[in-house]
Amino acid sequence: MIAKTVLQKRVIELTDKLPLITQKQKDWGFKKLLKSHVIISRKKMFCLDCGESWSFENSRWQEEVVGVVCPCCEKKLDIIDNKISFSLNYMSILTTVKEFQVVRIVLLRKEVKKNTPANYITKEVVQHWIDPKGNITTVAIERNYRTYCVDQWYLESKFSIKDFVFAYNPEIYPLKKILPSIKRNGFKGNDFGLEPQELFSVLLKHSKAETLLKSNQIKLLERFVKYNGDMIFINENWSSIKLCIKHNYTINDFGIWRDYFNLLKYFNKDTSNIKFICPQNLKESHDKLMKKKAEKEDAEDKILQIQRLAVDEEEYKLSKSNYFGISFEKGDLQINVITKVEDFMKEGKLLNHCVYTNEYYKEESSLILSVKRLGEIIETVEVDLLSMSIKQSRGLGNKKSEYNAEIIELVNSNLSTISSIHKKAA
Ligand SMILES: [Zn+2]
Repeated sequence: MIAKTVLQKRVIELTDKLPLITQKQKDWGFKKLLKSHVIISRKKMFCLDCGESWSFENSRWQEEVVGVVCPCCEKKLDIIDNKISFSLNYMSILTTVKEFQVVRIVLLRKEVKKNTPANYITKEVVQHWIDPKGNITTVAIERNYRTYCVDQWYLESKFSIKDFVFAYNPEIYPLKKILPSIKRNGFKGNDFGLEPQELFSVLLKHSKAETLLKSNQIKLLERFVKYNGDMIFINENWSSIKLCIKHNYTINDFGIWRDYFNLLKYFNKDTSNIKFICPQNLKESHDKLMKKKAEKEDAEDKILQIQRLAVDEEEYKLSKSNYFGISFEKGDLQINVITKVEDFMKEGKLLNHCVYTNEYYKEESSLILSVKRLGEIIETVEVDLLSMSIKQSRGLGNKKSEYNAEIIELVNSNLSTISSIHKKAA
């Protein structure tokens, strides 16, 4: 994109003013973020970093237990079996230029070959520029868009304004230069795993984020930064949250607290009373109200229930039917989008969580998926459609199942399918 606005033009002008990436920064990146490898061939080891080779007596297994160190470059080496020709990673550098906070993202690439010293390449590929008001302007060099591999950069191309989202959140070089205003708003060096540009932007834009950070309500801060729906929720219920902060009540599971809070509202409880909003045992209080709501609905007139369900089914179909075909599997796991409100009810009852009671089928920006293992429902996943990321995945009694990590990985690797449908629907 061509720089059009005053801000964009200024950013492009300043990209040249940044200092060069220093050798010290590059060395840190290569040492910390790229592994060094050794390859074994006929009782000989080949260091892929310095090109040295040597014979060894022990079994491979013994070598692996003791750990291989190159006698020449003295690096700790990981044994690999498959031939590789390169490895790559990214690092972030935080710096400031004039009135801007800048997040610089640098590609680290190491090309390796048996009997040859490795070839090290670094190239700055993306920069996020955050102005004093918290607006983010992203510039990047060109990328090959005809492939799904996001790492194919045209290394000779120049920086220009971009609107893409970079797929990684690289590790940050430990020496950071931070704008005084960001520090004043509570940033002390910890990014809590959030993308730094997102965190900085929110800290500059919203005083509530500053309050959350300074009062150590990190779970709320995370959701405030990452999910638009949660930001709206926090804004709308700020007076209750402020009370929690005032009484040093730290919310550690925001998902459950939010559901619980909505249940309080459903039962017309006083949400300015800390007795209600700061429960000693959140999960217990949550489950109690969830049960109470389910019982109340059960006791209602059956005809009314059927009528309400029919309306909900119709509305759900209208808002989410585009996604109904989505289904993927790996090994024993099978994951699909829930297609009926009735199935929300069944799943909520089976796993004893509030996916139905708290009407997740009405969440405009959420997509709910059901996870089965060998035909049995084990977890429910919520994907946030705006940030295209997993918001939560919970099994029986809101806990993680033993397959949680696999599930997260499987959903993550299929987010592009959901994203392409979401884009078409928008
Ligand atoms: Zn070596």
